[in-house]
Amino acid sequence: MTLHTGRHFLQIPGPTNVPDRVLRAIDQPTIDHRGPEFAELGREVLHGLKAVFKTSGPVIVYPASGTGAWEAAIVNTLSPGDKVLAFETGHFATLWREIAERFGLEVDFVSGNWREGVDPLTVEGKLREDTNHAIKAVMVVHNETSTGVASRIGEVRKAMDSAGHPALLMVDTISSLGSIDYRHEEWKVDVTVGGSQKGLMLPPGLSFNAIGEKALEASKTARSYRSFWDWQAMLGPNKDGFFPYTPATNLLYGLRESLDMLLDEEGLSNVFARHDRLAEATRRAVCAWDLEILCTKPEEYSSSLTAILMPDGHDADRLRKIILERFDMSLGAGLGKLKGRVFRVGHLGAFNDLMLAGTLSGVEMGLELAGVPHKKGGVQAAMDYLAQEAAEGGSKAA
Ligand SMILES: *Cc1c(COP(=O)(O)O)cnc(C)c1O
Repeated sequence: MTLHTGRHFLQIPGPTNVPDRVLRAIDQPTIDHRGPEFAELGREVLHGLKAVFKTSGPVIVYPASGTGAWEAAIVNTLSPGDKVLAFETGHFATLWREIAERFGLEVDFVSGNWREGVDPLTVEGKLREDTNHAIKAVMVVHNETSTGVASRIGEVRKAMDSAGHPALLMVDTISSLGSIDYRHEEWKVDVTVGGSQKGLMLPPGLSFNAIGEKALEASKTARSYRSFWDWQAMLGPNKDGFFPYTPATNLLYGLRESLDMLLDEEGLSNVFARHDRLAEATRRAVCAWDLEILCTKPEEYSSSLTAILMPDGHDADRLRKIILERFDMSLGAGLGKLKGRVFRVGHLGAFNDLMLAGTLSGVEMGLELAGVPHKKGGVQAAMDYLAQEAAEGGSKAA
């Protein structure tokens, strides 16, 4: 092992860098989860989460990775044999589909090229064709973490409305929540799936279901087997800030701290603007390097991460290995069929202008060391943009 000094750069698109103050909040004695002190913590985080999802309805917290919350969304609302509509936007959409199939759902999986988001016109067309309303749910990944493409959920909602179709809308926001604008209630999303280790700046280990009224109704008749994931078991004790089984108390301390940071201190709209700015600076670097951004539609660029295509004949994993060994920086790998073809730069969570400048410097030096054909000046292009934004934005800057 090479000796490294200073901080590791964790620039994968999740888990993200956990702020020191969140780590310190977690480092407290674990308390009685049936006692009054816990009730206060429980009520506080369950309330704060509503603002992050932009909902007035309940948000369920599971001691689980995001995959658990995917499963929870399915087993609480659907029955074996139900038809659902899903979209091959990338690796994560493909994994969610596999879970649905394991629970006996019939998935109409609209194929995609992993470079674009969900096409709202396709949603409308598919639902209009489904005249007898066999489709029970539309499943969409908001920010496809494997590709750096963000689907336009508001437009997907409009497409469902204009088709006049009653299917549930279920959205995975694991890598967009707290990073990219998202509105559970306004967009009439029925179940939103979230996770702790990305925009919420927490360690892995918590995941969420925000639930709308229609989904709650559906849960009363859904026949999928469920026990651990059952919403009803959670909703009762949650009213008083409690959980039906031992919660991840220390992660909830961390969540209370991160909610303070996102909602009370920076404010969600500033959080989103910061992510937009850092994403734009990253793209300017990629363009200056003369490399290609995987996402082909500017209106679908992700503010959480950027996936960058390697020139033909060059392996992204070799580049990532050189950067890790020499500069102690982790970048995201190409997943599924993109393995070796792309690397992904995470620019979400607890992150600022200088961390981005360091990240891009590591990439630019790595490209040189790995012998990847590129132009110089990516870091400079990003810095020029960030400095100009700072001059225009004044005190808004990070
Ligand atoms: C990270 C991620 C997941 C998987 O979450 P785990 O916590 O690894 O189970 C699912 N969907 C998206 C969009 C993600 O980014």
